[in-house]
Amino acid sequence: MPELVRAIYPGSFDPVTNGHIDIIERGRSIFDHVIVAVAVNQDKDPMFTTEERMEMLRDVTRQWDNVEIDRFDGLLVDYVSSRDASVILRGIRAVTDFDYEFQMALMNRRLAGSIETVFLVPAEAYEYLSSSLVKEVASLGGTVRGLLPPSVEKRLNAKLEALRCSDGES
Ligand code: ADP
Repeated sequence: MPELVRAIYPGSFDPVTNGHIDIIERGRSIFDHVIVAVAVNQDKDPMFTTEERMEMLRDVTRQWDNVEIDRFDGLLVDYVSSRDASVILRGIRAVTDFDYEFQMALMNRRLAGSIETVFLVPAEAYEYLSSSLVKEVASLGGTVRGLLPPSVEKRLNAKLEALRCSDGES
């Protein structure tokens, strides 16, 4: 029997966007099992907690039985090995992603030569979509309809409201 190929899709997912979901959907049709892994230890200061980011991901992927949501900290290649996976899945957008993604892919190959990084390209509509842009636009009162699943959009608006209220108190 051929060996099952397990892929890890790591990222911040702060919050998950339709661009991420596009990559997960493409990934799950290529690989036997896709583990979406939320990065815990990051320099970035996330808007949502790790648990909140995982909940939103679970919510929008529950219809897919070969997609799993997990978290990781520490070295990505160690996590990939610990989950018996052989592929790191990353989405690649316009030119700005290339330099950073190449550096990371080559560093990960240095650290673990048997793990391959696979890049997938999203639908054109999501080519310029990022979690940070969505957060910025929403916080300024702009509409982000169509860029996030409705359940995530609701949670983003609630989070912004909560942040506004706590700002008002301080
Ligand atoms: P990170 O902090 O690791 O970049 P992100 O959540 O921003 O975490 O992104 C996780 C992965 O998803 C990265 O490979 C990123 O390039 C990819 N990605 C993010 N947004 C999109 C999008 N709109 N289309 C395709 N890939 C995307």
